[in-house]
Amino acid sequence: MKGTAIVAGGGLAGISAACDLADAGWKVTLLERKKRLGGMVASFPDPESGGEIDNGEHIAIEACTELLGLFGRLGCLDRLKRQPRLRIPFVGPDGRVAELTESSWSFLTFPFLSLGDRWRVARALRRIGKMRDAEIAPLDNFTSADWLDDLGQSPASISRFWDFFLAPALNEPAARSSAALAARVLRDAMGLGPQFSRFCLFRAPLGTVFPAAAEAYLTSKGGTIRSLATVTKVRPETGRVVLELTDGGTVEAEACVLALPHENLAEVFPESAPPLEHSPILNAHLWYDKAVTSLEFFAMIDSRVQWVFNRSVISGLPGPGQHLSCSISAARDWAHRPGEEIASDCDAELKRRFRSEARLVRFVISREHRATFSARPGTAPMRPGPRTRHAGLVLAGAWTDTGYPATMEGAVRSGRAAARELVKAGGGT
Ligand SMILES: Cc1cc2nc3c(=O)[nH]c(=O)nc-3n(C[C@H](O)[C@H](O)[C@H](O)COP(=O)(O)OP(=O)(O)OC[C@H]3O[C@@H](n4cnc5c(N)ncnc54)[C@H](O)[C@@H]3O)c2cc1C
Repeated sequence: MKGTAIVAGGGLAGISAACDLADAGWKVTLLERKKRLGGMVASFPDPESGGEIDNGEHIAIEACTELLGLFGRLGCLDRLKRQPRLRIPFVGPDGRVAELTESSWSFLTFPFLSLGDRWRVARALRRIGKMRDAEIAPLDNFTSADWLDDLGQSPASISRFWDFFLAPALNEPAARSSAALAARVLRDAMGLGPQFSRFCLFRAPLGTVFPAAAEAYLTSKGGTIRSLATVTKVRPETGRVVLELTDGGTVEAEACVLALPHENLAEVFPESAPPLEHSPILNAHLWYDKAVTSLEFFAMIDSRVQWVFNRSVISGLPGPGQHLSCSISAARDWAHRPGEEIASDCDAELKRRFRSEARLVRFVISREHRATFSARPGTAPMRPGPRTRHAGLVLAGAWTDTGYPATMEGAVRSGRAAARELVKAGGGT
């Protein structure tokens, strides 16, 4: 046995750190304040159906190699629906559907951009695919919109192409997001080849995808999971780290990974918490009495509701009704709107585009006000790496310095980096 380690926070960052430490022979205790692991990748009970509803659509792509690697280790890759070929349907305001695929022909004929814009987008994509890290880092001082403008991109191509990928990935629109994070995401997704942009969708409710598998994995390696265990204070001491819990008890180990959201880190260990802001994500779950569309998912051109996921098709739910999930990223403007208004706007958009007579039977609005940190320009220096000034105490979380915005891939990478730091130090403090 290498040593003892506590991992505080059972999201993807904490889970990946715990798995790596357990694999390296550490005796790991994972503390999570909620009942179930998974953190932001969550679903909640739906009394009406007896099932669970996702807090928000979570999409990965094939370039998320660390996330897919973790799911492979946990044995839950089969819960993902992975596209055999890239296929992204876009639906225009008049209901016209055009798909972007791996063939350049689909892009050359993409009807929602002018011919000139298509050519300029293709040229920019080629250029971004070849960018080096040293070229990307200084872009943190600029917005994605300014950077794309420098690359010759028109406002129309930003709203009808770039922001469909950047706004969900960065959870800020191009006008507010860091160009460095945009460039990194685009280069890693598109620069590696179109096959790395294929979508991976979750078939099952998020809370049932990997938390149980992670518990089983860690337990099989001698680890302990303590759910409903909330850390209130972290005390680094010589040779050990002591964590105080809400029940008045303490736990200690030779090493500790703090894999908490930055706002919770500020409560329990303020010296390492950065002054990052949040950005909300909103999801409108709509149930219809009959099918509105046969598309599995699609992007809506010129709509505040950028992406719609057909849960009935993705999860193979029985008909005749249909469950559509509308995903609204960077939802500062919609976060406090009444649910009825949101549902009615989404419903009107869908019915207009698909000329559907389906009846909206019910809706549930899920609001995550602190979904991600706000990926604004100038955030790079605020995001610490795994190391703290205390031996044996490291940080993880999608908000740490991963080079990525707050994503599942970033969370897993941060957990792995934190575990590496402890393994390198060779057994605790
Ligand atoms: C609606 C929504 C949609 C999203 N869509 C996507 C997407 O499509 N693709 C993508 O890649 N990413 C997406 N994300 C982002 C992604 O979910 C997160 O970046 C990632 O899951 C964060 O993981 P984490 O482990 O860093 O943090 P978290 O998941 O926040 O985990 C931290 C854990 O710490 C626990 N905790 C907090 N305080 C304490 C305490 N005091 N003691 C003990 N435990 C504590 C929390 O309960 C939580 O379980 C989305 C997020 C949301 C909210």
